[in-house]
Amino acid sequence: MNARIIDFENARAHSGDHMVRGTAAYGMVRAFAVTARDVAQTARDAHDTTPVVTAGLGRLMMGALMMGMMFKEPDELITLIVKGDGPIRAMTVTANCEGQVKGFPAEPHVFVPPKRSGKLDVGRAVGAGTLSAVRDLPGTEPYSSRVELVSGEIAEDLTHYFMVSDQVPTSVGLGVLVGRDANVDCAGGFVVQLMPDCIDEVAERIERNLESVASVTDILRAGATPNDLLERVLDGLGYRELEAQPVEFHCGCDEDRAARATMALGADELRDMIEKGETAEVFCHFCGRRHYLPVERLREMLGQQG
Ligand SMILES: [Zn+2]
Repeated sequence: MNARIIDFENARAHSGDHMVRGTAAYGMVRAFAVTARDVAQTARDAHDTTPVVTAGLGRLMMGALMMGMMFKEPDELITLIVKGDGPIRAMTVTANCEGQVKGFPAEPHVFVPPKRSGKLDVGRAVGAGTLSAVRDLPGTEPYSSRVELVSGEIAEDLTHYFMVSDQVPTSVGLGVLVGRDANVDCAGGFVVQLMPDCIDEVAERIERNLESVASVTDILRAGATPNDLLERVLDGLGYRELEAQPVEFHCGCDEDRAARATMALGADELRDMIEKGETAEVFCHFCGRRHYLPVERLREMLGQQG
């Protein structure tokens, strides 16, 4: 019998939205890439964002997903916060190291004219401001660092972040293509980093490759996978995949977490709601869901609190 062995987990990791981690040039380069069409679309649906916000939020979420894969500490959370003087005002995204991300914009309904190239003008919608990254590992002090935004286009800002904060020369490309119906056609991106022992010839080759990459979305539109993206960017450098992982928009909020958040308001507030016969409505900014805690539940919670 002629049989081909297919690793189920590996096949799953390579279908649909997923990211990869790889290496090139004998370890002088490390690389990450992601496709996240469904992730960006789920965020669009959750927050009813206009196309320029869909693109900005999608880019930031992909950046956070790849950083999650980069640090790879189990239970670590990466939060990226962009604050600007443009109409979006702010975007907050959080990713874990298992390929799950969530995020929300301060202002989902933003309209700015497209650039002359026809591309969505994310930089104008974000404006001038800062990018903060917070690494949160349970049981330790959260580690946070902040840089000025370079353009508000997110990829350039993350490139700058890696250089300033980690002193690692990095190239970041991120693209979200939004269709005429305001839905996401495709989304993806890459992070390529030069290790300290990287020689000039390798850096120059990557630079030349990047010049030939007109835009990430042009490549994605042709159905590119994360490995296809990295094979383009690292052409001629012997790119090799090391690991693949599915990615998804996921918010862990549920009724129990809503109850804990409500308890944190204190017994007086709970008693007040119970007396007035009010249902507590807990809104989750990250996924746009609302959780309702009826009076009976509030009474239960008050009892537990003693
Ligand atoms: Zn939620």
